[in-house]
Amino acid sequence: MSKLNNKDRQAILAALQSRKTALLAEVRAALAAGDDNQYREILGNAPGDSSDEALASSLADLAAARMDREVREYRALEAAEQRLDTAEFGLCQDCGAAIPVGRLLANPAATRCVQCQEIFDRTHAGQAHGSL
Ligand SMILES: [Zn+2]
Repeated sequence: MSKLNNKDRQAILAALQSRKTALLAEVRAALAAGDDNQYREILGNAPGDSSDEALASSLADLAAARMDREVREYRALEAAEQRLDTAEFGLCQDCGAAIPVGRLLANPAATRCVQCQEIFDRTHAGQAHGSL
C-alpha cells in the first residue's frame, strides 16, 4: 500500500527533476569536452602503436560505460516520473512493500525496497554496481 501524501510526491518529483537536470548536464559536459578529446588525442599521437590503441579503446569503453549508465538512469527517472501519480509508485516491485520516502528522495528511480535491492544486486553481481 502506498502511503505517499501529496507533499511527499511533490518532494520526490522535485528530487527527480533535479537529478534529471544534473544527469543531463553531466552527459552534455562529457560529450562536449573531456572524454572524446582525450580519446582522439591518444589515437592521434599513437599511430600504429597497439598498446596505446588498446589504452585508447579501453578509455572509450570506460566513457561509453559511464554514458550508458547515465542514459539508463535518466530513462529510469523518466519512468519513475510517469509512475509518480499511479498507485504502484513507491511500492517495491519484488515484495510489494512501501519504499520509505527517504529512500525515494535519495533515489527517486528506486523500484525496490532496500532488502530486495540488496538481493537483486547480489544475484546480479558483476553487472551494474551501485544501488539504483
Ligand atoms: Zn522489497
